[in-house]
Amino acid sequence: MHAGRPLGNDGAVSPSVRPSTTFARDARGALQGEHLYTRLSNPNRAALEEALATLEDGAESACFASGSAAANALLETLQPGDRVYYGHDLYYGVRKLLQKKAGHLKLEIEEVDFSSPDATEALQEPAALVLLETPSNPLLDVVDIEAVAGAAHGCGAALVVDNTWATPVLQQPLTMGADFVLHSTTKYVGGHSDVLGGALIARDASTDRWHDVREIQGLAGAVPSPWDCWLLLRSLSTLAVRIDAHCANARALATWLEAHPRIERVRYPGLASHPAHEIARRQMRDFGGMVSVELANRDAAHAFVRRLELFTVATSLGGVHSLAEHRIVVEPPGSKTPEGLVRLSVGIEDEADLRADLEQALSGI
Ligand SMILES: *Cc1c(COP(=O)(O)O)cnc(C)c1O
Repeated sequence: MHAGRPLGNDGAVSPSVRPSTTFARDARGALQGEHLYTRLSNPNRAALEEALATLEDGAESACFASGSAAANALLETLQPGDRVYYGHDLYYGVRKLLQKKAGHLKLEIEEVDFSSPDATEALQEPAALVLLETPSNPLLDVVDIEAVAGAAHGCGAALVVDNTWATPVLQQPLTMGADFVLHSTTKYVGGHSDVLGGALIARDASTDRWHDVREIQGLAGAVPSPWDCWLLLRSLSTLAVRIDAHCANARALATWLEAHPRIERVRYPGLASHPAHEIARRQMRDFGGMVSVELANRDAAHAFVRRLELFTVATSLGGVHSLAEHRIVVEPPGSKTPEGLVRLSVGIEDEADLRADLEQALSGI
């Protein structure tokens, strides 16, 4: 609520947007504050970085123009020949980016299902990075962060957890042994489907890899605008209450959907039927706003989303307004996602209204 938000010199309780790209030197040639040029740093970005580092219990944070730009900055720190282990269900764009870099840099990349009980045994060779996401997209797999952190460190690798879905309100990977947290702040952090952004947070700011990330942030310049940083900082003020509302709606709908005759399977870590429910209970404070449901087949899923009225059929997630997406339509050929799977990003509308919409859409199939 308060990190990164000191009162203004005139007592303003809301920070100002500081669009200036450059900062003046005085007669002696000295800068008057901490900032020189906005690609390198800016008051609004510094405030957002301070707030995100505080929330994730990290040493420092670096903000980017998108989650993908944040992931790219981390991957730019890799050296030719480095090994990277990555989750089989990692965000498609990040996986694709890694595969692309693997070609140029001759990286050794290896896909691992971190949600399987013997996942940590797959980590054997010396490695630079281990990348995972929990809960994952769109299968809602849950990974034991502490167990993978131990195995990653055993290989000399830094563990990177994409915490976009859970947010620091529900889980703080850096307190469970992760070395870096990645966010697409476009999603729950922004929360209103109106800002694109990304962030990396480091547990230890003194490592060479973090130094490289900071250098790449400033040199490559994929940074968010001061206005976007202002919006994201404002959104953080309501993050905890929004997440509570998302979780309450998602839990109620997941429980109801699980008993619905037209639904074959509900994937939600808060349900006792979820294979990793116990891990989720241990490492998360609540279970999030994302629910995936499986209908009988592709046609049934298509008919279901076509009939939705309150849920908007669109990609992305984490906004206060509910979204639904028939995943197979947007996933690349060869994806492991079941054809009848529909991903729901449950918003904070009245739960009865959301249930009524799902009910009318299901009964119309
Ligand atoms: C959306 C998303 C990303 C990519 O972020 P952009 O802001 O769209 O670039 C990365 N990871 C996860 C889990 C996401 O949901």
